[in-house]
Amino acid sequence: MSAMVVVTLPNGDKKEAPKGISVHSFVKDFIGAGLAKAAVFAKVNGQDVDLARPLEQDASLQIFTSKNPEAQEVARHDAAHVVADAVQRLFPGTQVTIGPSIEEGFYYDFFRDRPFTPEDLEKIEKLANEIVAQDLPFVREEVSPAAAIALFEAKGEKFKVEIINDIVAKGATTLTLYKHGDWVDFCLGPHGPSTSKIGVIKLLSSSGAYWRGDHRNAALQRIYGTAFFDKKALEAWVKQREEAAKRDHRKLGKELDLFHFHPFAPGSAFWAPKGTTLYTVLQDYMRAHTRAGGYVEIKTPLLFNKGLWEQSGHWGKYKENMFLVQDSESAELDFSLKPMNCPSHHLFYGMKKHSYRDLPLRFHTQDVLHRNEAAGALSGLTRVRQFAQDDAHIYCREDQISSEVERFVALLNRVYKDFGLSYAVKLSTRPPQRIGTDELWDRAEGALKTALEALKLPYELVPGDGAFYGPKIDFAVSDSIGRNWQLGTIQLDYVAPERFDLTYIGEDNKEHRPVVLHRAIFGSFERFIAILIEHFAGAFPAWLAPVQCVVVTVADRQAEYAKQVRDRLVGLGFRAEVDERGLSMQKKIAEAQVQKVPFTLVIGDREVEQGAVAPRRYGGEDLKTMPVDQLVALLEKEARTPMP
Ligand SMILES: [Zn+2]
Ligand SMILES: [Zn+2]
Repeated sequence: MSAMVVVTLPNGDKKEAPKGISVHSFVKDFIGAGLAKAAVFAKVNGQDVDLARPLEQDASLQIFTSKNPEAQEVARHDAAHVVADAVQRLFPGTQVTIGPSIEEGFYYDFFRDRPFTPEDLEKIEKLANEIVAQDLPFVREEVSPAAAIALFEAKGEKFKVEIINDIVAKGATTLTLYKHGDWVDFCLGPHGPSTSKIGVIKLLSSSGAYWRGDHRNAALQRIYGTAFFDKKALEAWVKQREEAAKRDHRKLGKELDLFHFHPFAPGSAFWAPKGTTLYTVLQDYMRAHTRAGGYVEIKTPLLFNKGLWEQSGHWGKYKENMFLVQDSESAELDFSLKPMNCPSHHLFYGMKKHSYRDLPLRFHTQDVLHRNEAAGALSGLTRVRQFAQDDAHIYCREDQISSEVERFVALLNRVYKDFGLSYAVKLSTRPPQRIGTDELWDRAEGALKTALEALKLPYELVPGDGAFYGPKIDFAVSDSIGRNWQLGTIQLDYVAPERFDLTYIGEDNKEHRPVVLHRAIFGSFERFIAILIEHFAGAFPAWLAPVQCVVVTVADRQAEYAKQVRDRLVGLGFRAEVDERGLSMQKKIAEAQVQKVPFTLVIGDREVEQGAVAPRRYGGEDLKTMPVDQLVALLEKEARTPMP
């Protein structure tokens, strides 16, 4: 009898199979031919492996198919190999370096004397997809360092030789090569079973790069590309990408004159009048909703002595993300701009004695925050150094957690609905590194689960992804073109009450620790505005639009009346303007469309006579001439901020 191995599947099932059986054969013989066909790679005892690898000992096995994002990543690295193969076939003498998968695709860096032209990319893409169609298996081979170096030296691949030498210097004794057809690369793997598994390859662009990312090193030519398991998915992605480029908030922010940046203030926006209006509409909206939700708004200092950050633990772990400020007394950098509100809320809570009757206490703050993000990471409004959040902290008894979470989700529901955003929920539970007893975590996670179940909210459980100080629920919204954004969050915190010695007097007249819940719905206003700009493609619903109505006259003689209409609307709290520039009516109407103003109010002699306006909606729909009273009624319905 030959030796056997025991393979444990993710559902806990155990199967006995002949020792040395390949992962692929095991899946085919012991699980099913369908899964074997769909498989791309596997994890054996948590380690990524190719399907051709033998099972030599008892192991846990997890199979990844085209449905898993991890498999897409592997297939994109497969694609990088195929593209490198195509490049070397088309442009002999080109040397290869590295080709990792990245978010949404892959790149490959080549050494050659000139850049790739768009025509080159077309040829490479065509040949790469031919190699995909040839269904060449990826074959893994283990070799000695000497053999690997000899192989790549013979090919004149200086960069590969350098990489291998580095790895050998770090102690590697066996190296792996991956071959498809005649092309071979030194690579750690894993790879899919064969080139046809890749699906379809699309090349996106080329640019310059440097060997090891250092400009003192050799200049390289980088090709960016992506791959999808099927053409339909690729086409959907291309369409989404084009749509996203049109909606890019950095582009629309300029065109709609919402915000600007200056090199003297990297990562901190200048908000133009229209952007400021949008910002304050959102602030007022959130204030109204949190107030109605039982929160109180407080403001705390922006500048704090390091003592606070030492107490909160940020001084040790988070210092490089804070802007330090020199103190006039000590001449030391021992003050910092606050990067978050929590510690100051805890201080504020601790300034008074609290009874169980006061709880829950909900503090809401929209103060300016600063984080010292690396200059290279700054991007439009999505990654900034100065921002504000719809931040709040709830101080409550442990038995109030569930009801507080339910309350929070009700508010979040309402808010996202007002913006037309749907969302998915994730519950993250205890990580390996954590504080607190297992009983405490059982109760905390139980409270969050109870709340989600009471709300009948479907959620994904992410074991181990909670913060070290408590479990959390995250809310990812999807926008109008199907992209996902991590926005809302509610996190339990058992550490802060300890660190800040927060207490309340219970019914038993003794001191107890409250629990803290950190929560946000917009997250940062800056990032939320970026998302809204892209979600609405700049065409905000009337209640959000910085300018709701623009009045346009047919001739100058209606100018007086136009101003009267504007003044009436402004007096009622609507945001209206008259376009008084010396342009034709058509030009002004067209301009209002470019600025995506919800209502353009056209006024000619007839409208003046009748005390009316002829409104036209953004997008072109002409509403019939109507009395101004009727317009006001329409605006009352569509242009008022949704109130709680
Ligand atoms: Zn590889
Ligand atoms: Zn917080």
